[in-house]
Amino acid sequence: MDYFKELYNLLDNCDKSQDIPVSALLVNSNSEIVAKSYNTRKLNNNISEHAEINVINELISNISYQNLSEYTLYTTLKPCTMCTGAIEQVKIRKVFYYVENKFNTYESPNIEYIHLRNEKNIDLYVKKLQNCFKKLR
Ligand SMILES: [Zn+2]
Repeated sequence: MDYFKELYNLLDNCDKSQDIPVSALLVNSNSEIVAKSYNTRKLNNNISEHAEINVINELISNISYQNLSEYTLYTTLKPCTMCTGAIEQVKIRKVFYYVENKFNTYESPNIEYIHLRNEKNIDLYVKKLQNCFKKLR
């Protein structure tokens, strides 16, 4: 499964709403994607609607269960402090990410972080992020 491609395709939604392009997936123990989401902070004018929190809420509302210790999170950008708290709340233990987050450096000791730095199309995403931050300045 090409998780990066799935994540990248979700970013069109952020482009439309001019949200910072971040998307996230939850994957079960069979490597199947069970939830997808993206940053909707600006779209819905809600500071907690980061991709990671959105994807967690989507899955827990579908399964009516809040312990996600069996699931793995994939996100384009390393989770911020707020999302790290949410990830801990639902007991997700493993987080895969593609790009480091310069603005948030808090790492939970309860979470194993795996930086997927060898993704071949990562430059596409980095360019998209840089363009977005350029517009914000
Ligand atoms: Zn966040």
